[in-house]
Amino acid sequence: MLEQLPVVIEPLRLAEAGRQLHGRLPLVGFKRLAPALHEVRGEVEVELGFGKDELHIAYLRGHLRTRLQIICQRCLQPMALPVDVEFALGLVTTDEAAEQLPADYEPLMVSGPMELAEIIEDELILAVPFVPMHPAGQCPAQEGQEDRLEDKPPHPFAVLARLKKPQ
Ligand SMILES: [Zn+2]
Repeated sequence: MLEQLPVVIEPLRLAEAGRQLHGRLPLVGFKRLAPALHEVRGEVEVELGFGKDELHIAYLRGHLRTRLQIICQRCLQPMALPVDVEFALGLVTTDEAAEQLPADYEPLMVSGPMELAEIIEDELILAVPFVPMHPAGQCPAQEGQEDRLEDKPPHPFAVLARLKKPQ
């Protein structure tokens, strides 16, 4: 069920209580994500589950779904990047505890109340590929690539190869 997501959360308390949160956040609030986007619009659907596992590790598991408006780095056209990511954060209060977390958790350092949007924004930033591109076969720059080969300037290595040829 959708509810209003709290602005500030106390992750360890929520983990003790085994709380579930489900709601939406507008992307316009994410100032650190904005430079990676072509256009800031839409929302992210957020599903969060807090709890403690069998090793008594407090965790936050999340599922984020959204579409980010970005620029394809192959054709330089705007595109909608579907994002559907799950994450598992181990809630820790010390560096030692962070190092001891099982490999299926990323550490989240917790020291009291935290802004929920900050946690969500971090995960969205991780979800954007370093070089975002249309999926194979859907990029306009890929079509007719064969035809346009002749228009391209020579590859720098091709020039080098010519220079290295014995006189
Ligand atoms: Zn493209």
